[in-house]
Amino acid sequence: MEQHLIDEIIEKNDIVDVINSYIPLKKTGSNFKTRCPFHDEKTASFIVSPKKQIYKCFGCGKGGNVITFVQEYEKISFPEALQKLAERAGIAIKQLMRGKAKNSKRDLIYKIYEIATGYYHTNLVEHSPTALEYLAERNINDETLKKFKLGFALNSFGGLRNHLQRNNINEKILSSTGLFTSNNNDLFRERILFPIHSSSGRVVAFGGRKLYEEQTGGKYVNSPTTDIYTKGNELYGLFETKYSISKKDIALICEGYTDFLRLFENGFTNSVASLGTSLTAAQISILSRFTENLYMLYDGDISGRKAAVRAAGKILSNGHNAKIIALPGEDDPDSYLKKNSADDLQKLIDEAKPLAQFLYEDNVIGIDKKGKLAVLFDILNEIEDEVAKELLIQDISDAFDLSEHAVKSRIREKRPVRNDTSQDIKTESNEQYTEERDVIAMILNNKSFYKKVAQEIDSSYFLTEKNRKIYQVLAENIEKMSNLSALLSKVDDEDLRNTLSEISMMEVQKHTIDEALQALKTRKYHAELKMINEKILKDPTNIELFTKKAELKKKILKINNKVVRKTLY
Ligand code: ZN
Repeated sequence: MEQHLIDEIIEKNDIVDVINSYIPLKKTGSNFKTRCPFHDEKTASFIVSPKKQIYKCFGCGKGGNVITFVQEYEKISFPEALQKLAERAGIAIKQLMRGKAKNSKRDLIYKIYEIATGYYHTNLVEHSPTALEYLAERNINDETLKKFKLGFALNSFGGLRNHLQRNNINEKILSSTGLFTSNNNDLFRERILFPIHSSSGRVVAFGGRKLYEEQTGGKYVNSPTTDIYTKGNELYGLFETKYSISKKDIALICEGYTDFLRLFENGFTNSVASLGTSLTAAQISILSRFTENLYMLYDGDISGRKAAVRAAGKILSNGHNAKIIALPGEDDPDSYLKKNSADDLQKLIDEAKPLAQFLYEDNVIGIDKKGKLAVLFDILNEIEDEVAKELLIQDISDAFDLSEHAVKSRIREKRPVRNDTSQDIKTESNEQYTEERDVIAMILNNKSFYKKVAQEIDSSYFLTEKNRKIYQVLAENIEKMSNLSALLSKVDDEDLRNTLSEISMMEVQKHTIDEALQALKTRKYHAELKMINEKILKDPTNIELFTKKAELKKKILKINNKVVRKTLY
């Protein structure tokens, strides 16, 4: 895609209008503010700047331009976000299609997962009677198998690799897909594969269950973190069940793939699986887009119940409603539904208990009343949201028949913020950071500064890796850089993009570009000096080191003189 088209799309889609169409923004001063859609928070730290046409969350660090916002919020690719925004601004799609869109790395990895999903699915349906038999024994029907694109990895080291090559996928990308071992073999072998879809419906990872007990490796092998997948950020099944969750206004959260599939087949279409026992804040945040009411439907045994209690505590402290469904001690949703009817489970769901009530009645976990209260007070003390706190106090007092006053007396005073010497050290290291960021911020504010900076220093003067990379991006794009928002589209790495938007939101310190440059130089020379001194200690007869040291000292002196002269006049 040609850069001028991207620029046009950015120009014609005001960032405030676009973000405001997803989440309400409030004006504060020259900026807009809201609670961040990318992490859970009580106070708004998500800032949108109409002047700079960028956003930045000071809570979780996410930042970018109008395109990256749509991309992140809708969990779609860069070209898809462009397409969407082009339509919104009435820019002709044909025009967009003319320049062949350059696939970003992320898009390519999405594509590979799509191909892999099809490949594994065909393997299962056409070539793997044993695996099909296994699934049939577990009562997973054909329709479910197709809807959730279950698959099978054959016992082969190169099946997927060869298939991708036949589909003209460049070998170079394979190592970043998470689908291969370090020596380039297929990661999944002889395993039933459960594709994990993002909430928008693209496969981003696989969970692989072994087929035979005697097979080596764990019961499950899962995709590692990649450019498109972060463990703990997705919920299994959500892409299919989100509408039902939002319609029924309740989400049932179970632990694993088979629990989920069993629930789904039995009409509990408002379910998701957390894929592991600990529900993460990111998962809670995604689910809360569809409903406030999150019901834990974990295994009925001790570890399942304990995990459900922890998860419910987390849900409450994030300001949502939590209830726990009590399955019999020996059951998980899958086994329960094999022995009982859907109506039976529905009854249990209707009887779901708030956290304190659930703990009060529990006789599986095996702690006494005192222990139960200790657990609850710990959770209570973690909650910051006042309303959520009040609700839990009421729940505890009702369940355990205590006065609210007695419950409140157990709330600890917030610890005062520590004020010790570590503070000083922190300020100092922050200061070093600031100077690098100042130079970058100044270039962002005034492109013409770049020439001066480039004449005096190179990227090696940025001692912080992140800032160094940002400077390199700036250097590579300085000619094409019409504005910051457009530049952000050039940055593939999310972390860098976030830092770049943070820097551009920063107040530039009061010093001049010369002073900032001198600070950078001084710091680099001092770091080099320190290194040379260490080398000299180890190798005290090396004349070369002493010569270098003398040169460095001269350079430092020269900078210092400059600074002195400046202050004198
Ligand atoms: Zn945030």
